[in-house]
Amino acid sequence: MTDDVTLDDLTRWISAYSERVTAQKDYLTELDSAIGDADHGANLSRGMAAANTEVEAKSPATIGDLGKAVGMKLVATVGGASGPLLGTLFLKFGGSAGDATALDADGLAAAMRAALDGVVARGKAEPGDKTMIDAFTPAVVAAEAVAAAGGTAKEAAAAAATAAETGRDATEPLVAKKGRASYLGERSAGHIDPGSASTALLWRTLADVVS
Ligand code: ADP
Ligand code: MG
Repeated sequence: MTDDVTLDDLTRWISAYSERVTAQKDYLTELDSAIGDADHGANLSRGMAAANTEVEAKSPATIGDLGKAVGMKLVATVGGASGPLLGTLFLKFGGSAGDATALDADGLAAAMRAALDGVVARGKAEPGDKTMIDAFTPAVVAAEAVAAAGGTAKEAAAAAATAAETGRDATEPLVAKKGRASYLGERSAGHIDPGSASTALLWRTLADVVS
């Protein structure tokens, strides 16, 4: 047993996330029907199924190759805002890990930070805009804090998941400033952002896979 997060863990993360977004498709769609166009569950379910099939076919040998396979498939399969954003997340995560086949806490936190930076560069959202960034940013900060304190990658993943869920819940009162929900203005308040919910689920899935 290692306290690192391995390529095998991350490969299982992709298949488990594919299963979970499909199991929670109706919930994610419900969130997106309140402040968007009711396609977030279908988008992620379709995209992650395609990404997982790609991973099974290619059996990536490094975390870099895994992130690239998933990210490119998501960009190609999912339209709208979330496909390119989530695709960027995985591409940058993999790019940071490179040829590694395991990540310690510093490596995991660095990959998460690179992924977040990529999503922000692409989508130009700021914290508080009621987007996936509001779940992802606290997740990265929490992982970095565990790494700085000398904790393990598995502990970093657990802390990231909890912080992402808190961030997700904190989107409820916010007024959306980015994406489709921003068209609603003040009427977007009172609903959890769908992308923050799927992003919290992403980090919870990793924490569960390695626990
Ligand atoms: P679409 O909005 O094109 O229908 P989805 O419904 O799949 O795409 O995804 C919507 C989610 O995408 C939102 O809930 C939000 O979290 C996220 N999102 C939208 N625009 C941005 C952005 N510019 N930056 C970060 N996240 C964004
Ligand atoms: Mg939508």
